[in-house]
Amino acid sequence: MVFDTYYRDSWVEVRLDAIRANIRELKKHLTGKTGIYAVVKANAYGHGDIQVAQAALEAGADALAVALLDEALRLREAGFTVPILVMGWVRPTDAAVAAEQNISLTVFQKEWLETAKQQTFDGKLSLHVKLDTGMGRIGIRTEEELQSVLEAWDEQSFQLDGVFTHYATADEEDTSYFQTQQARLEELLASFAKRWPHPVHIHTGNSAASMRFPEKMHHMVRFGIGMYGLYPSHDVKEINPIPLYPSFSLHTTLVHVKELPKGESISYGAVYTTEGPEWIGTLPVGYADGWIRKLQGLEVLVDGKRQPIVGKICMDQCMVKLDQSYPVGTQVTLIGKQRDSEISMDEVADYVDTINYEVPCLISSRVPRMYLEQEETTEVRNALIFKS
Ligand SMILES: *Cc1c(COP(=O)(O)O)cnc(C)c1O
Repeated sequence: MVFDTYYRDSWVEVRLDAIRANIRELKKHLTGKTGIYAVVKANAYGHGDIQVAQAALEAGADALAVALLDEALRLREAGFTVPILVMGWVRPTDAAVAAEQNISLTVFQKEWLETAKQQTFDGKLSLHVKLDTGMGRIGIRTEEELQSVLEAWDEQSFQLDGVFTHYATADEEDTSYFQTQQARLEELLASFAKRWPHPVHIHTGNSAASMRFPEKMHHMVRFGIGMYGLYPSHDVKEINPIPLYPSFSLHTTLVHVKELPKGESISYGAVYTTEGPEWIGTLPVGYADGWIRKLQGLEVLVDGKRQPIVGKICMDQCMVKLDQSYPVGTQVTLIGKQRDSEISMDEVADYVDTINYEVPCLISSRVPRMYLEQEETTEVRNALIFKS
């Protein structure tokens, strides 16, 4: 085991027991024949790809999915032997790298196949065909395109392992566009089956679709946001198809506490001025940590109580208005729970008018990730040593 030492008192806690519980909840909910890709792209949505992948596989996920070939290679290098799918476009000239590491790529262009088959590699490159049924991003849209891709197929070089699509609105209460996409999928799959008699894995569902329509899922689902304990939207949270356990929390400590008289200003631009005598605390976290400037005015938890961020957020620090004096070193929670209070990921996302997905992705690599199995171990952390 490799240990890294950090000399700063701001950190992320990732509850691996929560990740496992979320996988188990989805597994219970799916019909027995549907397997799970744990989606660990973007460093597992900022949670840590290797640790999350490990926990997800332990809890019953069958395979891993990422966006980039680089992300897949990192996982292979870490020793994962399960199937890994790259869901985004990869340069066809990198086909040999993927083939050598037994990484599955996504294809939807005949020119891609023509270039990829000129590369030299042993064995066959595993490919999944992407269908664009209405996301408008990547994928084959028509029967003609499908035919031309299958005609360019070289059975010596390529192994067709999967066919998949992605839903644009599975997280919305209104399911009409979802149904339009399903109908297009059925048409394309029918025409695929006529031209390709061999069995392949079909996978369509992201978290929203797999949680809401388990009976409509095919061989596999691609479970991302739900695995991290977050609902894909407010609508899905309300529908609450399965219980989810948040896994990510963000903490820091007070590094300076002072009482200021009325009329003193705080931070760049001097836009906040004390209205009377006020206790002001300084936090060693700022926009370079992903605690973005728009979060000015949001509350954080100190001593289980909500206390507002005042003044502009700096690159490495920000200030909070405290209800009383607290000792330097007092834990401050920016995302997560303290006693009976909580600042949820959804609250932070709503405050800056974005979705919960974006918030942990933004918390930069400068903030160490600490991996926990249970709640109680979180307090003990004087000499900060984190598993890397
Ligand atoms: C990111 C991604 C997913 C996972 O989506 P969630 O909403 O996080 O479950 C699934 N499929 C594709 C193609 C993706 O890009």
